[in-house]
Amino acid sequence: MGQVGLDSFTDSECLALLERTPDPIDDRTLICPDERGEVNRWSQGLAEVFEVVPFDPMGHDLPPRVPAEPITFSDQFWNEGEYSVCKDIFHEEPFLSAVMKLPAASGRVAREALSNAGERVFRPDEVQLRMATVFTHVEQPTWEFESPMEEGRELYGCIEVHRRRFPIRLYRGACDAKALYSYDLRVLGPMLRLELIAAHELGHAIDALTGDLSSRPLAAETRATVYASFLAQCSARTMRTFFLEAARAITSPLSAQRRRKAQLVCMARRWHTFEQYLASARAGWTSSEPRLSPGFSSAFACASPAADGAQASLSVHECPVRTRQGR
Ligand SMILES: [Zn+2]
Repeated sequence: MGQVGLDSFTDSECLALLERTPDPIDDRTLICPDERGEVNRWSQGLAEVFEVVPFDPMGHDLPPRVPAEPITFSDQFWNEGEYSVCKDIFHEEPFLSAVMKLPAASGRVAREALSNAGERVFRPDEVQLRMATVFTHVEQPTWEFESPMEEGRELYGCIEVHRRRFPIRLYRGACDAKALYSYDLRVLGPMLRLELIAAHELGHAIDALTGDLSSRPLAAETRATVYASFLAQCSARTMRTFFLEAARAITSPLSAQRRRKAQLVCMARRWHTFEQYLASARAGWTSSEPRLSPGFSSAFACASPAADGAQASLSVHECPVRTRQGR
C-alpha cells in the first residue's frame, strides 16, 4: 500500500467502509453520558479497529460503565505535543487577539498549570501563558442530566461568570444539539457537538476575563461560539492526526491489515472534513462588536433553537440545576 495520505481512498470507498465500521471513538455510548452521567468505556467498533479486547471475551461481563469525564481542553495548551499539532490554529485571528487581551498567568500559576501537563512544556509562548489564566478561573464542567427549558428553548450549556471561579454546566441534550445560534452542528459527530458547547462556555470565560462583555448578548454568544470553533477545530485535527498515525503504523500486507488501514485513513478524512467545516463556519464573523455593559454579568444559558430558528439570546442569573442524583 505504500505511503498513505488522506487521498488514498475515494469518497465512495470511505463511505462504504465507515458504514460498515463507524468511527469507534466518535461513538455516542463513549461520548454521551446516560441519565446517570455515565458512559460505556468500550464499544465493539473500538475492538474491531484497534484490535483490542473490549471486555470479557466469554461474554459474561457487560461493558463497564464509568462516569463521563469532564471536557477540559487544557491539554490542548499545556501538553506540548498536543499544542504543537494545533499551534497555528491558536495563532489565527480573532482567537489570538482575544487571548492576548487576557492577563498572563503569574509565574507561579503558570508553572503549576504547566507541570500538570502530561508532557513538560519548557518554553510556553504567550498564548499558552494567557490561556493558563482561563483554565485557572474555570471549574471542571459538571454534567446535569436533564436539559432544562428556558423560554421554550433547550439549554445545552451554561457558565456563571460572576463567581470567583466560574462553574460550567453541560446539559445532556448537548450531544444531540442541532445548532448553536447560527452554527449548524448537524454535520458534526457527537464528540464535536459536545466539545463545541463546552468550548463555547470557555469563550464566555475569555470575555469575562478580558472585560469584553458586550452590551448585545447575541454578540457575546457569537464571539463565544467563534472562540469555541478554534478549540473544537484543534480537537478535530488531533483526531485526524491520531487516526492517520495509526494508519501509517500498519505495514503488514495482509488483507485484514490493509482493510484496517483503510478504515483508519477514512476516519482521519472524516475528522479533516470536520476541521474544515469548523474553520469555514466562523469565517463571516467580524470582531468589531460593541463593548462593555457593566450590568451584563450573569450566567449565559447558551440555548439554541433549530438551525433555521430564531436568533435571540438567553441569559439567566444562575445555571439551572435540576437533579443531583447519580453523582
Ligand atoms: Zn453562550
